[in-house]
Amino acid sequence: MSSLTVELTAPNGVKYTQPTGLFINNEWVASSKGNKITSINPTDESEIASVHAAEPEDVDKAVEAARAAFKGPWRDMATTERGDLMINLAGLIDQNKEVLATIETWDNGKPYSVALNEDLAEVAGCMKYYGGWADKIHGQVIDTSPAKLAYTIREPIGVCGQIIPWNYPLAMAAWKLGPAIACGNTVVLKSAEQTPLSILVFANLVKEAGFPPGVINIINGHGRVAGAAMAQHPGIDKIAFTGSTSTGREIMKMASLTMKNITLETGGKSPLLVFDDADLDQAVKWSHVGIMSNMGQICTATSRILVQESIYDKFIEAFKKQVTETSKVGDPFKDETFQGPQVTKAQYERVLGYIDTGKSEGATLAMGGEAYKNVGEGKGFFVSPTVFTNVKDSMRIFREEVFGPFVVVVSFKDEEEALALANDTTYGLGSALFTKDIVKAHRVARKIEAGMVWINSSQDSDYRIPFGGVKQSGIGRELGEAGLEAYTNKKAVHVNLGTWL
Ligand code: ADP
Repeated sequence: MSSLTVELTAPNGVKYTQPTGLFINNEWVASSKGNKITSINPTDESEIASVHAAEPEDVDKAVEAARAAFKGPWRDMATTERGDLMINLAGLIDQNKEVLATIETWDNGKPYSVALNEDLAEVAGCMKYYGGWADKIHGQVIDTSPAKLAYTIREPIGVCGQIIPWNYPLAMAAWKLGPAIACGNTVVLKSAEQTPLSILVFANLVKEAGFPPGVINIINGHGRVAGAAMAQHPGIDKIAFTGSTSTGREIMKMASLTMKNITLETGGKSPLLVFDDADLDQAVKWSHVGIMSNMGQICTATSRILVQESIYDKFIEAFKKQVTETSKVGDPFKDETFQGPQVTKAQYERVLGYIDTGKSEGATLAMGGEAYKNVGEGKGFFVSPTVFTNVKDSMRIFREEVFGPFVVVVSFKDEEEALALANDTTYGLGSALFTKDIVKAHRVARKIEAGMVWINSSQDSDYRIPFGGVKQSGIGRELGEAGLEAYTNKKAVHVNLGTWL
């Protein structure tokens, strides 16, 4: 329908047709009230396009479509055929990766080379990986006695509501869609209102890949309207969410009304420990990657760097040098740019607010600490990479998630104090440690309260390996074989073989 598309030319010259509607039953439809979300280019604050925002009635329609598809073709489709469709989709994502990466950069502000080579590779790879799983998901026969046959069936859960954030718009969609559809579920996925565009182009590929109508429904909408309608919807059997801890808590509460199955991936304040026997160059390199990549907008960002006292000063000097030389702030479409703008004005102001907090709490501002205005005509949501030292564990900047290019560096005396500081948080998502002592490395890895530990590295993520948090960083796991557990029920079947007393 022509009124539900707009022709756009991105800042890098890529021209494409942007859908603007809601993707329900493989069709583009307008939202029932005609309300729109306008997406802003964070690099220069210009408007990119407006897209339809779903109302609760639109969520009803999407859920109805997903339910019909679940009962109809999808749940009982031959599993290899289901996997083939996913592998088709992975191929189409790869063929369209330039346009998808362009939209990601335009809408989100992440460097184009990262969007293309990391995000899009992950989206296609994740879809292909779970496509491969589709015909390898099976139950067990459990031997109890000759009088009985007992076995399990891995059943899909049903209609899944998936609510995703804005920091990796397409990658977060792939992490959620891949395992859900491989297991035979159908989906209503809601994108984040800050980055509504790329997922709509992706939706066209879903249809092109040959998925039956209603298997994957994609809507944009406001969290408190469409997201809340999904979390409470009696026709949705499971909610999977990635976003802030406070929203995760609200979703958990709403989902409890109909006792939905849930997977939550929420916030973090992940520690990175540098022991005095570490390879300092490696520790410095990964400490930078761990917090400054993706403009610090990563839930697993290692935002608390804990350094052993004897090498603290040396580390700080080397780290500052690394940030100065590597964190080139600029237009995300330029090749040399490492750091683009924060995604929205709200996030930009949030980071600047924490800079004020750090100063007023008495920490030392070692570098950055201001808005960065040297890109283009001085517009856009850029923040200088910011480092605070002499930070105390009682300070808010040590305890609260900032979600920006903002890091605190703290010293510790020994392993015991390092672990106490690392675990002194309500979060438990990622963690990193640097040492050449392999015994210490594995000992500390066991004692850190986190869902993931990186030894002599930071931010490794791989769709073949489970991802998720402990404490208030989430519930359940995504990715890898563990991701399938979150999208299946185990039904137990007991068969009386006739000699049962
Ligand atoms: P952030 O604070 O970083 O913007 P959120 O956790 O609020 O992140 O948002 C992540 C996702 O959750 C988005 O898709 C958003 O629309 C959705 N969301 C926000 N608030 C709610 C809510 N009350 N109920 C359901 N979904 C919500």
